[in-house]
Amino acid sequence: MEHREAERLKELDAVKTRLYTNITHEFRTPLTIISGMADEIKEHPLEWLIDGTEMIKRNSRQLLHLVNQMLDLRKLETGKMTVDMVNGNVLPFLKYLFESFHSLASSKGIELRFVTSLPDLTMDYDAEKLQKIVSNLLSNALKFTPAGGQVELKLEIEQLEVDGKLYPPVPQLLISVSDTGIGIPQEKIPFIFDHFYQVDDTHSRPSEGTGIGLALTQELVKLLGGTISLESQKEKGSTFKVMLPLTDHSPKSQSTETQAIDVEATLPKPPVDNSESGTAKRSRTEKSAEIINPTVLIIEDNADVVIYLKTCLWADYQLLVATNGKSGLEQAIENTPDLILSDVMMPEMDGFEVCKALKNDDRTSHIPVILLTAKADMESRLEGLDCGADAYLAKPFEPRELHLRIRNLLELRKKMQIYYLALTIGQSAKAETLQKGQVEKREDTFVQKARAIVEQNLDDAQFSTEELGKLLAMSRSQLHRKLTALTGLSPNHFIRYIRLGQARQRLLETDDNIAEIAYGTGFSDPGYFSRVFRQEYEMTPKEWRDLKGAR
Ligand code: ADP
Repeated sequence: MEHREAERLKELDAVKTRLYTNITHEFRTPLTIISGMADEIKEHPLEWLIDGTEMIKRNSRQLLHLVNQMLDLRKLETGKMTVDMVNGNVLPFLKYLFESFHSLASSKGIELRFVTSLPDLTMDYDAEKLQKIVSNLLSNALKFTPAGGQVELKLEIEQLEVDGKLYPPVPQLLISVSDTGIGIPQEKIPFIFDHFYQVDDTHSRPSEGTGIGLALTQELVKLLGGTISLESQKEKGSTFKVMLPLTDHSPKSQSTETQAIDVEATLPKPPVDNSESGTAKRSRTEKSAEIINPTVLIIEDNADVVIYLKTCLWADYQLLVATNGKSGLEQAIENTPDLILSDVMMPEMDGFEVCKALKNDDRTSHIPVILLTAKADMESRLEGLDCGADAYLAKPFEPRELHLRIRNLLELRKKMQIYYLALTIGQSAKAETLQKGQVEKREDTFVQKARAIVEQNLDDAQFSTEELGKLLAMSRSQLHRKLTALTGLSPNHFIRYIRLGQARQRLLETDDNIAEIAYGTGFSDPGYFSRVFRQEYEMTPKEWRDLKGAR
């Protein structure tokens, strides 16, 4: 007894954990959009009234659907859900339901097939429950099938005659929903109908969800006196089979056609095109054209969140968008943005992995990363900081908070430039402006390495930024963006800055004449050397040399 009780408590605990991690995410994302959009509409009613309210409606519908699912599950488990059968032709009803998935399927590049040889199918059915069962299975099939795949709904009657006897005694309607999707590993199949269970509950799972759908589907099937089973093979696809008794004694339905059920309300919506939607609505003319706004790369798979972030940021930043971690990383390397804003839960590669990869690559390690996440628990927070993220923002966040975080990080970068500039010419860093811990070892090493390379080629006037880039394994533009971000100097200027720094030192410490020093530090023209020296230090080399005597 005691053992069983302990087991039960353990299972309950596991259910709770699953509930919290999945549900909080599923609630926070739409809530972030709703509350953010409401602010946006308040501030810019003309621009956002229509699109914004549409987004709010869509996301609140999603929340309502979630809450309804949870309530349904509760009702079913406490035996409070009643069955409401009518008798009629279920075929047109199912066909109509099926058709409503077409736009979602085509937006995902999936082929839908409705297969049956039955001319009609008159039976007792509870339309609302049947609709929930089939919708859940179809939307899962679409969710877990990649583009180019197929999803099929098949209807058959199951009853065999063996030795003059009928098996099963009551004929069954067999509804099969098959897909050619990712499939479910054999060992996970027994748990698939558990509450809040998800095969993949990692941050990088390819789709969002709560793990309620199948638990609810199974309870509904049981309530209707049926059974549900699953055959699946990893990477090949899955087939869910629902058997419902085919009886014929309920009152005739008023309409033989579809019943007035709000199918729309329960359907997942096709993804919104987030490429350019609704961003360039305000005119930018009020801004001076000379100021180049910093570039922010948004890595986020939820189209609505992307739109929301764009609305918040477009006026102050140039925005790039990647819809999964992998392409986010590629874009970061390609474009070297000034800051990266990344979701944690994403397909392909989660935010932590992205962050780690960014911080381990010289081409991107200096870029500040803000992780956005619904999983605001301490564990994620620590994991987030561990991967080198510079800040952590929990959804739902306020636009003002987001702005503040970005601005702070970019300002910190500016402060760091003074430090790295000093490091460029080997001066003890003027680090008073920086707090302890803000200086990053990796960037120190990078600047020192770049400096060492230039110093090794000091007297070679031909040594170019291309060579520097090559030796640092970076393209021209990557080097340019990395160096300007760190030191505020272009590669050309960086090289010259080091040369001049060395020259200045030699002026004080050696007796070489100015021309010799110019040649020795890579200037082929002493006149040019004097000019740029003066530009940099507001003193001529001669005046600087005279300081030596004054010492
Ligand atoms: P949700 O989809 O909200 O996570 P469900 O209860 O509907 O919750 O599904 C539970 C889990 O079962 C999913 O997270 C997924 O891992 C797995 N699953 C369900 N349907 C399929 C399918 N057709 N193909 C592959 N996996 C599936």
